[in-house]
Amino acid sequence: MSETKKSLNFLEQIIEEDLSRGLDKSKLRFRFPPEPNGYLHIGHAASICLNFGLGITYDAPVNLRFDDTNPVKEEQEYVDSIKADIQWLGFEWDKELYSSDYFQELYDWSVLLIKNGKAYVDDQTSSQIADQKGSPTEPGSNSPFRDRSSEENLALFEKMKNGDFDEGTHVLRAKIDMSSPNMLMRDPVMYRILKKAHHRTGENWKIYPMYDWTHGESDYLENISHSLCTLEFKNHRELYDWFLDQVYDKKDLRPKQREFARRNLSYTVMSKRKLLQLVEEGLVSGWNDPRMPTISGLRRRGYTPKSIRDFSESAGIAKRDNVTDLALLEFHIRHELNKTAPRVMGVLNPVKLIISNYPEGKEELLTAENNPEDEEAGFRTLPFSRELYIEKEDFREVANKKFFRLKLGREVRLKNAYIIKANSVEKDENGEVTVIHCTYDVDSKSGSGSEASQRKVKGTIHWVSAAHAIKCEVRLYDRLFTDKAPDSHKGVDFKEFINPNSLEVISEAFVEPSLATAQKGDNVQFQRLGYFNVDEDSTAERLVFNRTVALRDSWAKIEQKK
Ligand code: ATP
Ligand code: MG
Repeated sequence: MSETKKSLNFLEQIIEEDLSRGLDKSKLRFRFPPEPNGYLHIGHAASICLNFGLGITYDAPVNLRFDDTNPVKEEQEYVDSIKADIQWLGFEWDKELYSSDYFQELYDWSVLLIKNGKAYVDDQTSSQIADQKGSPTEPGSNSPFRDRSSEENLALFEKMKNGDFDEGTHVLRAKIDMSSPNMLMRDPVMYRILKKAHHRTGENWKIYPMYDWTHGESDYLENISHSLCTLEFKNHRELYDWFLDQVYDKKDLRPKQREFARRNLSYTVMSKRKLLQLVEEGLVSGWNDPRMPTISGLRRRGYTPKSIRDFSESAGIAKRDNVTDLALLEFHIRHELNKTAPRVMGVLNPVKLIISNYPEGKEELLTAENNPEDEEAGFRTLPFSRELYIEKEDFREVANKKFFRLKLGREVRLKNAYIIKANSVEKDENGEVTVIHCTYDVDSKSGSGSEASQRKVKGTIHWVSAAHAIKCEVRLYDRLFTDKAPDSHKGVDFKEFINPNSLEVISEAFVEPSLATAQKGDNVQFQRLGYFNVDEDSTAERLVFNRTVALRDSWAKIEQKK
């Protein structure tokens, strides 16, 4: 078989061009630069797979750099979770670095800028500064403090650093051009006073550099060859270039910034600020709620690292904004679990079924194949007895010809077991069926041996033996939002679109006894119902399952019908 070479994405093409123009391959170096102010989500996975993927393709180092310039929102908990998630996804960073490690260098460079007349201290409030910014069509106006002498600026900046001024009273600004068509070039703020402890530098600093001043310089200090970021930074590139021009030494590598489109997912919000709101307002159980688009939420839901990497790969890297269908993510986890998850039986909404001609007290062990898609998965035994549970919706007293499951007077096969026929029912005072009485065909046992019955009937249903089944909790999830793009409606809060039925808890489901040894995180298929995994809330007394995904895309069908 000939190996098909996958086509290069546009960023790989840029790198290939740089190499062909003489860039030494050993100079290639990438980074993933999260701000430790939230948990990573499936959008970040795109950037992680891109940067670490390039590292693998070109055998180049990839740094994990925390862009930690804002002590107000950043925490060690986020640093730890980000590291754990990247490792879980299967990637290794070269160095673990922090922008805060460069605070001194950044400060020294700022002093240099002041000396060169390229930065000044502004005594105005942030709203005064905003009022002078102008608009995209009108130039801004100069601050009255713009032409201070270098000496005065140096003295004031020093005082800012020493904590002599209150927050909000002074900022350091770059002196660029108040009439630039790029608003970001209109004397952007480089430092603000913040008397907050930082998760790494503690109380050392009373001033903190702005993200824009920090980001490009950090790439430069780390010799990053290709600084890949999302499209919203396209306008910032001019500013990063200007900052770099002020400090750049010709003998060094100059990082090249290129932008790609964010990963957006339908029926999902991806902004960390909004995800934090869901957590803080208790609308989900935490950052790792299985309905969250976070890596930790997906992991808890039963997604595997490979499914997320495959999804990122197949969704690709785009130049323009777009929305990826959530169904693509679900496709990848189904595709993987189809081959790897053992197939077992579980009944979510049980109704009792009694086989009247099966001897009372008799038990037999039937043989069941673990996964026909995986030759090595082998077989297991399943206890069978007179009283079983089947799924309520698999039985009807009367039904039309298209109903191939169990109905009165008709036959159906019990998966891995016998053919049964429904004869009568018992009902409660509300008319609900409580017991189905059946008889079985003794000669209809399924299996692959010579005694196996070849008799075929139209329907097959799943079941568990009532005396042997394990009672457990099952959590079924639906999309967290009812709208395709919950945060795209002007004037309507995204939380208006929260799906009130996104979680259904079934507290009395039954699963076959082979699951007694299941471990937290294990993935299984409940036949006919979907892929499930063992939730971390499980205890020795009580198993809790999450439905990772249904077997087929039931939404696609519903939407077609409408
Ligand atoms: P916020 O949501 O607070 O604006 P952010 O999502 O940009 O922040 P960062 O921690 O700055 O979060 O992101 C780290 C890296 O991941 C950045 O390089 C960013 O461009 C990239 N990234 C973030 N969100 C996405 C996304 N949806 N798709 C692709 N890359 C993303
Ligand atoms: Mg960001």
